[in-house]
Amino acid sequence: MAGLGTDLVKARNLLSEGSLVAIPTETVYGLAGNALNVDAVASIFATKKRPSFDPLILHTDSLGKVSGFVLEVPALAKKLADKFWPGPLTILFKKKSLIPDLVTSGLDTVAVRIPNHPLTLNLLKSIDFPLAAPSANPFGYVSPTTPQHVQQQLGESIPYILDGGDCEVGVESTIISFEHEQPTVLRMGGLAIESIEEVLGKVQVQAYSSSAPAAPGMLKSHYAPGKSFVLIDSAEAFTFPENDQFAVLVFDQLIPSVPEESQYMLAPGGDVREAAKGLFGMIRMLDAKEEVKEIIALKVPEKGLGRAVNDRLRRASATE
Ligand code: AMP
Ligand code: MG
Repeated sequence: MAGLGTDLVKARNLLSEGSLVAIPTETVYGLAGNALNVDAVASIFATKKRPSFDPLILHTDSLGKVSGFVLEVPALAKKLADKFWPGPLTILFKKKSLIPDLVTSGLDTVAVRIPNHPLTLNLLKSIDFPLAAPSANPFGYVSPTTPQHVQQQLGESIPYILDGGDCEVGVESTIISFEHEQPTVLRMGGLAIESIEEVLGKVQVQAYSSSAPAAPGMLKSHYAPGKSFVLIDSAEAFTFPENDQFAVLVFDQLIPSVPEESQYMLAPGGDVREAAKGLFGMIRMLDAKEEVKEIIALKVPEKGLGRAVNDRLRRASATE
C-alpha cells in the first residue's frame, strides 16, 4: 500500500530522488515523476504499462518556468495561458533539448500544463524541475478522480499518494496545439471549447479518431472499462438487452420504462459539469458491480464539458 497524506516535504524528497508520487489536480490524479530524470520517466511508463509512443504532459507552476522548457511561447498560446492557467488546459510547444525524448515519445513538441490544485501548486513551487504526470491509472483504464482510485490500482507500485481529495473537474485536460494555421484541439477535456473560442475565435477540433493518432489519448478504446459498454443517443433509442443484468447511465432524467434501481444518474441538477465530475467514479462503481454485465450510457447534452463527457463515453464504448 502506498502512503497517503498531505506531506509536501515527503513528496518533494521522493520526487527529487527519482521516485514517483501520485498528485491531485483539478482534472484527475497524476502519476508524477521528475521529467528531467530519464529513469523516473521510464518508471512512469513501466508502472502504468503505458506504451512508450504515448507522450506525457509536463506540469509546472509558472509561465516563467515554461519558457525554460520550450523554444517559444506563441502569442496565442500566451493569451490562452494568461486566461486559463492554472487550469484544465494543456498546450503543446516546441520543446528544448533538455526535455528527454522519452517524455515526448520522440516528438519535437512537448505538452505543458499548470494545474489548478493548491497542494500540487505548492509542491511544484518547491521544486526546480517539471513533473511529467500522466493519469495515475493502468494504461487503458478510466482515470482516477479520488486518492482511493489510485490506491486500488497503483497502491502496490508507488510509495506515496498526495491526498488532495476528490477532483473538482473530473475529466482530463483539454489539449490544444498551435502547430497549424488554425489552433487545433487534440483532446476535448476540462476546459470547454466554447471558453477557448471566446478568446481565440473558431478553433479546429480533431479530438476523435480511430487510427494513427497524433495524440494517443485519442485512441478509441482508451477508456474502455472491463465489461460491455454501449452508448446510445437518447432515451428514445433505448431497447431492453437480452440479458437483464444491465445498468443504464442517464444524464438528469430516468427512462420511464426501465426499473429505477437499474438507472444511475450522472447529473441530477442537469449540469454537464456535474456529469464530468462524477463520470469516472460512476464507471468504476458500475465496473466493480458483479451483477452488472452491461452498461448502457445515454449521451449527455453536447455543450460545454458535455462534449468531453460524450467523448469519454464514446471511447468507453469503443471495441477496438
Ligand atoms: P494523460 O496524461 O494520460 O491524460 O495523457 C496525455 C496525453 O497527452 C497523451 O495521451 C497524448 O494524447 C497527449 N500528448 C502529450 N504530449 C503530446 C504531444 N507532444 N503531441 C500530441 N499529444 C500529446
Ligand atoms: Mg491517461
